[in-house]
Order: sequence, then structure tokens, then C-alpha cells
Amino acid sequence: MTLLQVSAIETFYGPSQALFGVDLEVRKGEVVTLMGRNGMGKTTTIRSVCGMTQARAGRIVFSGREVVGLPSHRIARLGIGLVPEGRRCFPNLTVRENLVVSARPGRWTLDAVRELFPRLGERMAQYAGTLSGGEQQMLAIGRALITNPSLLILDEATEGLAPIIRDDIWAAIRRLKREGEAILVVDKTMDEVLDVADRCVVLERGRTVWAGVPAELTPDLQDRYLGV
Ligand code: ATP
Repeated sequence: MTLLQVSAIETFYGPSQALFGVDLEVRKGEVVTLMGRNGMGKTTTIRSVCGMTQARAGRIVFSGREVVGLPSHRIARLGIGLVPEGRRCFPNLTVRENLVVSARPGRWTLDAVRELFPRLGERMAQYAGTLSGGEQQMLAIGRALITNPSLLILDEATEGLAPIIRDDIWAAIRRLKREGEAILVVDKTMDEVLDVADRCVVLERGRTVWAGVPAELTPDLQDRYLGV
């Protein structure tokens, strides 16, 4: 069952066009990775899906509803949990408060998040602003999960983190996948992302240029689309 269908979207920043035709599908229970070199439009695609930058052309259907034109809080309410680039928690709230203010009914509760990230569980009373970068990232993921979304979107969730914390985050992502969560992930750690993804979508200069399963993304194709 299709959860998210993005068709031929075009998105602009003022007069400057960033997306020229992005197509992307995420089905229920599937992990899809959006790939491409720097500046090819991955974050802009995510911003368009979440209504933070409105697509000017094309269609975005989420859970059977056209979402182009809806404000981002409405789209979030329909069931998209975004972990934006650069995390963003409330620094002056505790870990627990950050989670509680985002919570909506469902299987992802405070206890479930605590169990997924024991490190965070030990720091429930600590102010978010005093967490390490990796812990803040876990909190950002926890905050998205506790909204009980039907689609989780991770934009560079492991960027700039210590290897040991990265491993924890990848372990959490693999667990979410096993538990049937649908995830759209952008990440520069190619081997990890190809390992967890069911399908890949590659962007080049604001367009979808390739889509397929990780096994079909040969070294030649990786070189062509992702090499530096
Ligand atoms: P990266 O991996 O570097 O984050 P990306 O694939 O996510 O890259 P985007 O951030 O979506 O790429 O950028 C796509 C294009 O849109 C780029 O040409 C970029 O310069 C431009 N762009 C992104 N954000 C803005 C903005 N706020 N204002 C103007 N142009 C922007």
C-alpha cells in the first residue's frame, strides 16, 4: 500500500528553482533512501513533503490526501514525523518535557522511547540543551516517534556524530524497520543506508534520475550519481 507518492514536484526558493521533477514513493513498512550528491535537492524534497517549502507544481499524496498547499503542522498531524537536519529540540526543556509536549496516542510512548534509547532514558530530567550531539539526535528521533507517525523522515540523522553513537542510531533504525515502520532516510553513510533500505531514489540537479533496489545500484551507478 502506498503511503507517500510524490509526482513531478517542482520547488523554488524565491525565483530560484531547486526541484525540477522529483518522483518518489514510500509504501507501508518500507525503508526508502533518497540519495544524491550535495545540493541535488534531498532536503528540499523533504521540506516540500512536509510543507515547509511549498511545491509549485506536481503532486504529493500522503495517506490518500493531497498535501500540497497544506501548512506543515497540518501535514505533521496527518502522520509524518520529521527529524530535520540539525536536530532541533527545546534546549530549555528537559528530555522528558521535550517528549511529552510532542506525544500523541499510539504505541510510541515515553517508555517505548526510553527502551529504544536507554542512553536517553537515563537523562529524562536533564535539560535538552546540555545533551551531547548524539543524545540530542536520539531525542529528536524520540520526539518524532512519540507523535506516532505513519511515516518517519530522517534527514542526516547521523551526521557529525561519534562512531559509537552512530552505531546506536543505526541499530535503532534497523529495529524500527523490523517493527514495520515506514521510513524515508537521507544519510551520507552509504554502506549503512544501502544495508537498511528496501529501495533507493537518486536525485541529480533537482530531478529523480534513478530508482531501484540497493542491489541494482552498481558501483558504476554509484560512481555516476554519488561519486565525488
Ligand atoms: P545537502 O546534502 O548539501 O544538504 P541536498 O541534496 O539536501 O544537499 P538541498 O539542500 O535540497 O540539497 O538544495 C538543493 C538546491 O537548492 C541547491 O542548489 C541549494 O543551493 C538550493 N537551496 C537550498 N536551500 C535554499 C534556500 N534556503 N534558499 C535558496 N536556495 C536554497
